[in-house]
Amino acid sequence: MNKKYKPKTILTHDGDHYADHKGAIVPPIYQNSLFAFENWDHIDEAFSAPGDHFIYSRLQNPTAHIAEEKIAAIAHGEKAKLTASGMGAISAAIMYCVKAGSHVVTIKTLYGPANNFINKFLKEKCGVTVTYIDGTDIEQFKEAIQENTSLIYLESPASLTYELQDLKAVATLAKARGIKTVIDNTWASPLFQKPLDYGIDISVHSASKYLCGHSDVVAGVIISSQKIIDDILVTEHALLGAKIAPFEAWLILRSLRTLPIRMRAHQEAVLEIIPWLETQPGIKKVLHPATKYFPQYKLGKSQMSGYGSLLSILLDTEDILKVKAFVDALKIFKLGVSWGGHESLVYAPVISYIKELDENQFKAMGIIPNMIRLSVGLEDMADLKDDIRQALSKLD
Ligand SMILES: *Cc1c(COP(=O)(O)O)cnc(C)c1O
Repeated sequence: MNKKYKPKTILTHDGDHYADHKGAIVPPIYQNSLFAFENWDHIDEAFSAPGDHFIYSRLQNPTAHIAEEKIAAIAHGEKAKLTASGMGAISAAIMYCVKAGSHVVTIKTLYGPANNFINKFLKEKCGVTVTYIDGTDIEQFKEAIQENTSLIYLESPASLTYELQDLKAVATLAKARGIKTVIDNTWASPLFQKPLDYGIDISVHSASKYLCGHSDVVAGVIISSQKIIDDILVTEHALLGAKIAPFEAWLILRSLRTLPIRMRAHQEAVLEIIPWLETQPGIKKVLHPATKYFPQYKLGKSQMSGYGSLLSILLDTEDILKVKAFVDALKIFKLGVSWGGHESLVYAPVISYIKELDENQFKAMGIIPNMIRLSVGLEDMADLKDDIRQALSKLD
């Protein structure tokens, strides 16, 4: 479709190719493992360019392909590849950028499983080494780079403490040194932040969060140039096998059509709840890039066009039993991992991170027992405030 259309129109029509599906306004779920060819020459031609043909559903599937075209278009990438999970996308993108003995520069507050993949799995299996920085100053990147650095792995904003990295500055530095850049762009969604526009090589998302938005799919996506996606398709994607199921791809496709209105609603909700939270007795601080005292407020405004609704609060108590009582008292905010769905969620990172990470990493991430993460969903704002108000009364 003509790329001059705006995101809402792209998400409604781009890639749907109605005529290829008998005019169906919602395309079918292609629940097939393989594709039959008319003759030797046709299948031979397909194998010469697997990125442009449907051969086998571990590589490409038509239902997934429609969603991939939409995501690539709104993210300003040439191509996208859906995967079985966010970690499927992250591990494939990282493996594409490293080899045995490579060095990686990344941030201290990195998403836990991504950190474990680099610093445990790749370290033990392939001797990959890693340098952690807080990432808020470009000088730290310059100092951290070594001769064998092959990847700078970013997450901006970080999904617990929301530190940002200057995407343009990092991409420029990395390009000059021949280093690949990958960003986990899950928090802002591809609507509110377009890292490829700043020169970042690969953008990855957990599609289980905003891209799905209904908490009924685990999926991921890799977005990049045609060359990189076609290379990953036949290497990390085909060989490690984290392919998305056709039905999951179809659910993501359904979700994409409402992504702009959901993101607008999430943003409106978070911008309303932040100033309210700041005035509540029992809340010491709100962590989110839209707060006035957020140290990188200006950078956030300059590289994002909107805000996600995941935030953290610091409760004004050191007493873990009171923190527990607050969490357990919430009724509308459901207690659970993940975020970015229609429903509001609460989580205390201390519960799992202390088990997932080694002690130093855990401390470096700045996680403290009274830090509570909230994902603001699509419920009525007055009900959400009432819920938090009654739970805060447990701190008295
Ligand atoms: C959830 C999440 C992931 C991992 O995605 P899955 O779909 O659960 O594999 C990666 N990064 C961030 C920031 C996340 O929140």
